[in-house]
Amino acid sequence: MSSEVLLKAKAQKEKSGDKTARDQGRILLITDEHTVSYRAVLESAELEVVGVSAGAAALVSLQRSRPHLVIASSATKGLSSREIARTLDQAQDSVPLILVGPEPASLAQRQAAMSAGAFDYFQMPAEAGLLALRARQLVKLRQTMDRLRAEADLDHLTGLANRRRFRVALTREVERWRRYGTPCALLMLDIDYMKAINDKYGHPFGDVVIRHIANTLTQVSRDNDTAARLGGEEFALLLAGVDDVKAELAAKRLLSILAKQTIEGVGNITLSIGLAACPAHANSERTLYTASDRALYVAKNNGRNQVAVAPLIQEKLPGV
Ligand code: GH3
Ligand code: MG
Ligand code: MG
Repeated sequence: MSSEVLLKAKAQKEKSGDKTARDQGRILLITDEHTVSYRAVLESAELEVVGVSAGAAALVSLQRSRPHLVIASSATKGLSSREIARTLDQAQDSVPLILVGPEPASLAQRQAAMSAGAFDYFQMPAEAGLLALRARQLVKLRQTMDRLRAEADLDHLTGLANRRRFRVALTREVERWRRYGTPCALLMLDIDYMKAINDKYGHPFGDVVIRHIANTLTQVSRDNDTAARLGGEEFALLLAGVDDVKAELAAKRLLSILAKQTIEGVGNITLSIGLAACPAHANSERTLYTASDRALYVAKNNGRNQVAVAPLIQEKLPGV
């Protein structure tokens, strides 16, 4: 199983385009000096300088260029090394920093840089070669961290978002509704008679069924939607910017797509779906989740292979 997942990940990696461009390290230079001398050295080490900014403008560039590493001149006017380090540390993923400057890389100079929060200090242009080597190391480390973080958010069997990523997406979409009034809908999906499928065809075949459902969810979801495997044979599909009416159409469409598909050796697979939307059925992350989960049970109890929609907020009893 794991080799299959690895192969899939490899195929996805290859599909996502030009290897060189993607793997290249992105560097942001914060300096108001002439950078020609070490820019060339960095670029020859396959590090792309995605921006050169001076002073406070650097903080804007930081958000725009999303660098793997920041190299800042200790002599930049209007922005101290300490301020830069603090900003980078506060940035969502804490981008590493190297300081450079005209002064020799004395013990005191390096100590000051590191205690300000930088990884190192190099004298420019004399130590440009060393800078490039150190920069490559840090970029590689940073890229590994990015990859591990992305993998930690994925379900190993299907490649869909896992429960953790789903939770983050749910918080984001409900927050978007609260702030901007953009609706969102949550479909909870559970494969019907999964135990019987396993018993009849074996667990590995059951996994094929789970992956088949995952692929279908990926096909029907749009860029901003989140298709997740919450565990076992249970899935969630979070529809961004979709209200209750459109979500119900989407859920029914999903069932009809599945009805037309057959899995070799197994036949037809059906799903039960519980649906709730903000603001029609819920007004918080917790109530959206609970309402769609309860609706799923209704769909199961009503005979499976169907969509059940949560009760409208005003239809609920007070205090429920
Ligand atoms: P229902 O229609 O009520 O949902 O019936 P069900 O049999 O699908 O539901 P139940 O919760 O009783 O069983 C879930 C089954 O899903 C039992 C378990 O063996 C199977 N399952 C959970 N995770 C996996 C998995 O990763 N792979 C496979 N093949 N089966 C799994
Ligand atoms: Mg289940
Ligand atoms: Mg089930």
